[in-house]
Amino acid sequence: MKNVNLDNIGLVDIHLHLDGSLSLETVKELMCMQGIKNENTDEELLKRLQVSHECKDLNEYLEKFEYPLTLLQTGEALSFAVYKLIEELKSEGIIYAEIRFAPQLHTKKGMSQKMAVEAAVRGLNRSSLDAGLILCCMRGNDNHAENMETVETAEKYLGKGVVAIDLAGAEGLFPTKDFRDIFELAREKHIPFTIHAGEADNPTSVEYALKFGAKRIGHGVRSVENADTLKKLSYGGITLELCPTSNLNTNIYENINEYPIKKLMDAGVKVTINTDNMMVSGTDIKKELTMLADTFGFDEDDIIDFERNAIMAAFTSASHKEKLLRLL
Ligand SMILES: [Zn+2]
Repeated sequence: MKNVNLDNIGLVDIHLHLDGSLSLETVKELMCMQGIKNENTDEELLKRLQVSHECKDLNEYLEKFEYPLTLLQTGEALSFAVYKLIEELKSEGIIYAEIRFAPQLHTKKGMSQKMAVEAAVRGLNRSSLDAGLILCCMRGNDNHAENMETVETAEKYLGKGVVAIDLAGAEGLFPTKDFRDIFELAREKHIPFTIHAGEADNPTSVEYALKFGAKRIGHGVRSVENADTLKKLSYGGITLELCPTSNLNTNIYENINEYPIKKLMDAGVKVTINTDNMMVSGTDIKKELTMLADTFGFDEDDIIDFERNAIMAAFTSASHKEKLLRLL
């Protein structure tokens, strides 16, 4: 086991969800702001927000988003949550982050998607870290109009806090191939995008994401099950947003030793390391990197390579990337 020192490396997280990453402190503050009496101990609250070892799959994992989402239905709450998360990331040594959320999941108390995005942008602008927002469209069979509205909203705020769109949700239930429209519209409007694929579903999902034009894939780990898919990722210079603990939680891999990061790297695929959901998975960026270093013997140069890959794949300008590279 090697000891890596992460304190002197500028860390980057390009795959984390706002609703799955609220700290306990933020949850309690959000409850207080909205006059919700907290009758739970911290332990009971954590149980509501975090997966246990018995979590079966991605569907069960996704249930942990229900409670935090109920707390994020006003502009004030959403803005506060974005601000707090970014400040927490900064204190963990992060130099740049792309935070994602699905505007259509924040409309239960009358906010429009546009109002939700405006609130998130306010939180972002108040914070003291370099960050961008990714708007998630959601997998489902009755929300086509909402997804199209998300793309239109992304266009309005692109370059004003929003940097890209994504497709999130239950990949095993709603296959990637059914969401072509979203990415056709995004391409038409020149909105960059990433797609969750090859997580709960097999490499076919990744193949569709590539067909739609994705240059970044959320997870994508199951690409190792198909040599052709791996080649396409490698030759296409596609970057994978890996989130190891999340994949252990959803039982894609039973043990971190099985995690195929080396296979991906050996195939020439660019990988980045991210947290996905800090609260749901009980993790942070340093935990993820340390776990991989301990398991696979990565040293500081390897970690810097991961961070460099993340910066190069970031949804930002070339000059901004150059600036970030200097902070590594
Ligand atoms: Zn994710």
